[in-house]
Amino acid sequence: MSKPLILVLGDQLSPSLASLRDLPEGAVVALCEVIEEGRYVPHHPQKIAMMFAAMRHFAAELESSGVRVHYSHLDDDDNCQQLLEEAERLARHYGCDEIRVARPGEWRLYAAIQARREAAQQAPRTEEAQGEEAPPGEETALPWRLVEDDRFFTTPADFDAWARGRKSFRLEHFYRYLRKRTGLLMEDGQPAGGQWNFDHDNREPLPDHLAFPKPPTHEQDATTQAVLALVASRFGEHFGSLEAFHWPVTRTQALAELTHFLNACLPDFGRYQDALSDQSPFLFHSRLSAALNLGLLSPIEVCEAAEGEYQAGRAPLNSVEGFIRQILGWREYVRGLYWTRMPNYKRGNALGATRDLPAFFWSADTEMRCLKRAIEMTRDHAYAHHIQRLMVTGNFALLCGVKPEALCDWYLAVYADACEWVELPNTLGMVLHADGGLMGSKPYCASGKYIDRMGDHCRQCRYDPKKVTGTHACPFNSLYWHFLEEHREALGDNPRMKLIYGSLDRMKDEKREALHQQAEAFLARLETTPAYGQGRHLAGYRHSDKGSEHRDASDHADSQDAY
Ligand SMILES: Cc1cc2nc3c(=O)[nH]c(=O)nc-3n(C[C@H](O)[C@H](O)[C@H](O)COP(=O)(O)OP(=O)(O)OC[C@H]3O[C@@H](n4cnc5c(N)ncnc54)[C@H](O)[C@@H]3O)c2cc1C
Ligand code: SF4
Repeated sequence: MSKPLILVLGDQLSPSLASLRDLPEGAVVALCEVIEEGRYVPHHPQKIAMMFAAMRHFAAELESSGVRVHYSHLDDDDNCQQLLEEAERLARHYGCDEIRVARPGEWRLYAAIQARREAAQQAPRTEEAQGEEAPPGEETALPWRLVEDDRFFTTPADFDAWARGRKSFRLEHFYRYLRKRTGLLMEDGQPAGGQWNFDHDNREPLPDHLAFPKPPTHEQDATTQAVLALVASRFGEHFGSLEAFHWPVTRTQALAELTHFLNACLPDFGRYQDALSDQSPFLFHSRLSAALNLGLLSPIEVCEAAEGEYQAGRAPLNSVEGFIRQILGWREYVRGLYWTRMPNYKRGNALGATRDLPAFFWSADTEMRCLKRAIEMTRDHAYAHHIQRLMVTGNFALLCGVKPEALCDWYLAVYADACEWVELPNTLGMVLHADGGLMGSKPYCASGKYIDRMGDHCRQCRYDPKKVTGTHACPFNSLYWHFLEEHREALGDNPRMKLIYGSLDRMKDEKREALHQQAEAFLARLETTPAYGQGRHLAGYRHSDKGSEHRDASDHADSQDAY
């Protein structure tokens, strides 16, 4: 009978994980904290602390249910600090004959495991070889076994089957297919309320003096406190503060977050889904992405809980549908796209962007209020809501032509919920349109008027969102028209951009030229940071080389098939 080592990764903290089912006698479950995973991009200290604390609690729970667990602490003397090597060291130590792992959340690890599987297949362990002591450094390759991670509504194979033969992979079509398949918000085979999509009810700007729900706080027990101290001492130089750490690190805490969301936020989630606030980082958003991505909550239970609120008459359909669309729709869709398009997907740069990351993305040192607040909230909470990521930092990077790898590495580093399978399609596809339109039928580009309409940042900004040229003009405005000019060849024939190109064409030459000059001057002044390892905030890190308006037509809300 085989004696496996089950490697449980930091985002696989679910007792129902496929690799943990039917554990054979003698199996050893391993969870490993290693420097390599904490530093391949400079992860926000809150992200590292959340993951380590959640891993330690999960290991303790498994152990108390009778499972044999090995936990490699970051400061263990014998920890070899590289994930796969550490798993192999432990497998040898415990005399295991294979290493089992559920599909990881990143192509980088998946490819490394596949390479090890192939190496083991080419060098099969013979009976004699197993009996002999190999000289140091010449151990026989251990067989790795990858099992599918089925904690999602779909597997990559499901997505592939759905996508096969289709000319385009629009979210809306995939989402409807999944609504039918799961029965979520379906009544007699029809969508609840007679519509698939309530987006038109979900674009209310922020009224003055709106009170936002206060997120729950969680007791930080000795385990969490020890992790916070460890992370402060070992990763304290990374961008981001630990002070406001509030993330759930156990299933009980994650369930408390879910209950808070259902009771206090879900009824208003829909209408303010796209709003921006200068004060509140969270508004009515759930903040559940990190707990979902770690595996403390399952997407199915979260969607069913939200549906239950609609059925009980406690939350309106537009909110519940909007919320379920994000998890059943977008979350599954980006995962399918990622696993079926990697590794080439990551090399996409359809608009030929070449600029390095703006330096203030690491400091929040900018007079552009919307960007300053989005980056400050990111620094303080390892969180920014979707519209800040997409329409503020993302939109700015798109308009400035920031190159995909620089922006992707930043988003991967700074958010507590960041995992490449979800971060990459959102950044490269949705924000930068670098996949050539596979994910979105047009770029989510917008001028300052959009940001002004959706929130209250502009009232506190030194720039004026209504001005397009001059010292007080909002930089988003000239950058927006400059971006359209620059990419006329790639975007000019896009039927969904005809209207806006029509406006550009009707502009007087002098105005077009003034806008061009304004944008060029701004871009010339924009300080950038070249790459990890060279930026002043990132000394010591290598560059990650993984796998290598008018409400007019610029309106984000009007800009996609479904959102
Ligand atoms: C550039 C960029 C990078 C992103 N990187 C990540 C990432 O690394 N990890 C991550 O989980 N999300 C990412 N997102 C998606 C989204 O912004 C976050 O899921 C959301 O802001 C998390 O906050 P919340 O839990 O309060 O979400 P809510 O607004 O409450 O939404 C509910 C849930 O829906 C899911 N969801 C919402 N939008 C998306 C989306 N576009 N794609 C996939 N799932 C979605 C999340 O699980 C989220 O918890 C990114 C979006 C952009 C534009
Ligand atoms: S004026 Fe422009 S830069 Fe300032 S907050 Fe508004 S959109 Fe942002």
